[in-house]
Amino acid sequence: MTAGLYVDGGLREGRGECRGLVDPASGEVIDEVLEASSDDVDVAVRSAREAAHGWAAATPGERSRVLLRLADLVQREAERITEREVRESGKPWGTFLDGELPFAADNLRFFAGAARSLDGTGAGVFSQGYTSMMVRRPVGVVGSIAPWNFPFVMAVWKIGPALAAGNAVVLKPAPTTPGTALLLGELAVEAGLPAGVFNVITGGAEVGAALVRHPGIDMVSVTGSTTTGKAVMSAAAESVKRVHLELGGKAPALVFGDADIDAAVRAIAMGATYNTGQDCTAATRMYVHRSRYGDTLDALRPVLDAINVGPPRDPATDIGPLVSVEQRDRVHGFVTRAVEAGAHVLTGGVMDPGVGAYYRPTLIADAAQASEIVQGEVFGPVLVVLPFDDEDEALHLANDSRYGLASSIWTTDVGRALRVAHGLDVGVTWINDHLPIASEAPHGGVKGSGFGKDMSHEAVLEYSVTQHVMLKHAQVDPERTDFRPA
Ligand code: NAD
Repeated sequence: MTAGLYVDGGLREGRGECRGLVDPASGEVIDEVLEASSDDVDVAVRSAREAAHGWAAATPGERSRVLLRLADLVQREAERITEREVRESGKPWGTFLDGELPFAADNLRFFAGAARSLDGTGAGVFSQGYTSMMVRRPVGVVGSIAPWNFPFVMAVWKIGPALAAGNAVVLKPAPTTPGTALLLGELAVEAGLPAGVFNVITGGAEVGAALVRHPGIDMVSVTGSTTTGKAVMSAAAESVKRVHLELGGKAPALVFGDADIDAAVRAIAMGATYNTGQDCTAATRMYVHRSRYGDTLDALRPVLDAINVGPPRDPATDIGPLVSVEQRDRVHGFVTRAVEAGAHVLTGGVMDPGVGAYYRPTLIADAAQASEIVQGEVFGPVLVVLPFDDEDEALHLANDSRYGLASSIWTTDVGRALRVAHGLDVGVTWINDHLPIASEAPHGGVKGSGFGKDMSHEAVLEYSVTQHVMLKHAQVDPERTDFRPA
């Protein structure tokens, strides 16, 4: 039994629902979590409000030292965090321990540095007799809501920039994968973060909605589906809360006739299936110039077939199960409806009927651009390939989506690469690759993918506001009117 709250510097049992957590690889119930009630949400927000002032007053150097210590503790506790993340999410052990976890530690170290370089745009005398200072200050208390696809990394993306900027945080992880966020709360206090500055509450959409509505929250930051983002934005409007929305994606990969097809096929197969396709930036729609369309499909099939789908702890496993049997059935529903609508499955499209939410990498051709499989976010290892005839059509097809998060362009023509990049309505574009990210580089979307940036200095700006402080440093002629609006 896990106490589902980390509030005011301690683990506590929630007074809400008791939820069983299921290992997606075995189907077994591995734990039960005592989730937050609406009273618990209130206690967590009050705790954050009480702690917020002190943390906002800490120097950037003090904040930075806590984040650096937290990064060290994340690495010290790597095995414990991995154990929990793998059991709840089904990720391959090595993918998390050797990839996501050190990346999360690197994120924290980046934000530790960014905390010390957060300054206003400057100071100046813009009006005779007055000195203006632009001071950057925290927003206050941030209510953060995270998804299940990268439970630990998303928790770090939520707290890193918010704490660096001097905010207090109440984080609600996804109900199916709360364990590593609770561990992060514990480690943050050990790292020296004052009790109450970072609180974790667990639960589902109702708990999230209670957090968004709470009058003690100044800003809401959500990573989740576009449907959730809309609901949160609308609820936040009631009390004019600032919102930061990292929502769904349906990334196109545009492969031109002059591209290195072998490299594109390998990277896009990986980009479509990494984390079993449960990635908002996953390569999901591959548009290939008609001259290379047939070759590309032929090359993709064996590469996807060679991907080892297996148990998270088997070192030979490339991708593990989907996060749950419900998610597996949802993915299969998309594939089944695509076939009913006239598309063809070239490989995959099969779910393992036994225990475990496994799904084979799936390649689909002959789908219509307007169809659900091309337009909807499947969130599984499913790649749809369509042909195009020229650059204009490629851009049109790529932009014909409600989403605008990530994209990739495959060509050896530098001019074309930049031309097409400038024409894509997205937040992230890779040229001749798909997926790599860096702590310094902003991540976020446009259109239905939301707005706001995670990672990079821009994320810290999102969690802070500019205050204009104007100091009268000399007597001002009372007859003057130039400094007041007419
Ligand atoms: P989800 O929208 O179902 O849930 C996300 C979180 O929001 C969960 O914690 C959930 O409990 C909470 N929630 C749901 N309804 C709510 C409401 N009305 N009010 C407040 N909170 C609410 O998403 P998911 O299925 O957990 O995650 C997958 C989604 O996340 C995909 O759409 C994926 O693209 C997106 N995602 C986006 C990014 C990005 O950076 N843009 C990164 C990772 C995942």
